[in-house]
Amino acid sequence: MKKNMTCIVCPVGCHLTIDDNHDVTGNRCKRGIAYAIEEVTNPTRMLTSTVRIDSHITKRLSVKTSKPIPKAKLFDVMDVLNDLRVTPPINVGDVLIKNIGNTGSDLVSTRTLMK
Ligand code: SF4
Repeated sequence: MKKNMTCIVCPVGCHLTIDDNHDVTGNRCKRGIAYAIEEVTNPTRMLTSTVRIDSHITKRLSVKTSKPIPKAKLFDVMDVLNDLRVTPPINVGDVLIKNIGNTGSDLVSTRTLMK
């Protein structure tokens, strides 16, 4: 069975088709082949979200994973984020949780917050 998808590796956005033998068509470069194969074998996504803060200035801190994590683990990681509460000061890029959910990715702050 063939599967269609849009390559999101660069802004060109090639329309890819991949078959059961992992033959890819529609790509303008090799990165599209790697993307299509990963998308059908182990799809990953960057996770961006917010977590609660112990602070009277603002209630939420924006965070992201340091690299894409498996789609299958997104809900597990969101559960960790829902239970997380952080205390300023926090700098942009600070690692809040190493290897979150055993994904090999760290949870990092995308904002600086003073006390
Ligand atoms: S296949 Fe290559 S050129 Fe096309 S969107 Fe993907 S990375 Fe960009």
